Amino acid sequence: MPCDACGVMDWEPLFSQHGYTLGRCPKCSLHYIDPMPEHDERMTELEGGHFAGTRSTLQADRQLDNERKSEARISEFVEIASDHVVGGRWLDIGCGTGMLPDLARRHGYKAEGIELTAARLAVARQVTGLPIHDRPLEALGFPDESFDVVSLINVFSHLTKPSETFKELRRIVRPGGIVILKTAVIESGVKKSHMFSWSLGEHLYFLGESTMERYAEDVGFSIADQRREWVVDVYYTKQRLSAVGGSAKRNAAKAILRTVPGAVSVLRAVMRRAQRDNAVYPTVFVLS
Ligand SMILES: [Zn+2]
Repeated sequence: MPCDACGVMDWEPLFSQHGYTLGRCPKCSLHYIDPMPEHDERMTELEGGHFAGTRSTLQADRQLDNERKSEARISEFVEIASDHVVGGRWLDIGCGTGMLPDLARRHGYKAEGIELTAARLAVARQVTGLPIHDRPLEALGFPDESFDVVSLINVFSHLTKPSETFKELRRIVRPGGIVILKTAVIESGVKKSHMFSWSLGEHLYFLGESTMERYAEDVGFSIADQRREWVVDVYYTKQRLSAVGGSAKRNAAKAILRTVPGAVSVLRAVMRRAQRDNAVYPTVFVLS
């Protein structure tokens, strides 16, 4: 399969999980899996709340609870947006149960969302009362220059063809508007142990060090801002550990960490040492 970002056919395999192999484009450093699920297959999985045959998405009520717990983190995106655009129309792609469009609305934006997972869509509509669309961006056919802000938070790795999505983003964002995109960036030297859970099959793409420049340049965006986080600081916090996930074993471990005094600090210190050379960085990009 040619690289989605730069078109070269070379692909260097890194490691495998769940029958998928993660590899890297030697030219633009886009990371993507093989085999790549077909678009229609992905849509069916999303609508049914299942990925890659076995994994299921979180129940919508749990997702809502987790989003509420992370309100402070999610409001970071509203702060970033307001550095560039005050007010206007905001589209949040992959909005989950709707926390970000709801926050955007409270900060004076005219907000709407897209959510393809049926259960989350229903909750988002009910909780926010905002327009939440149930079809992929490319199928919605928004008029040119419709939006001042478009956000994709932890969505990039799920896209079936990111290059098509970037083209569509360029078309629907008005001049002076921005795209806020948060996703994992992988640097060279990555190891399987650098991520708690790769969820290959559910995650199809990861950016490399120089992939975003490539995507942005191709459609005429420039990178206005880029903020990198360290994976340990993101995942091993009290707040994050209070979020209930899909694995019973992991939830039990989280419960112990929450209740034993000092356990989170110890875990963080251990993980900092273990992941000193971690090559995965959650990164927020602002494109304009
Ligand atoms: Zn490439």
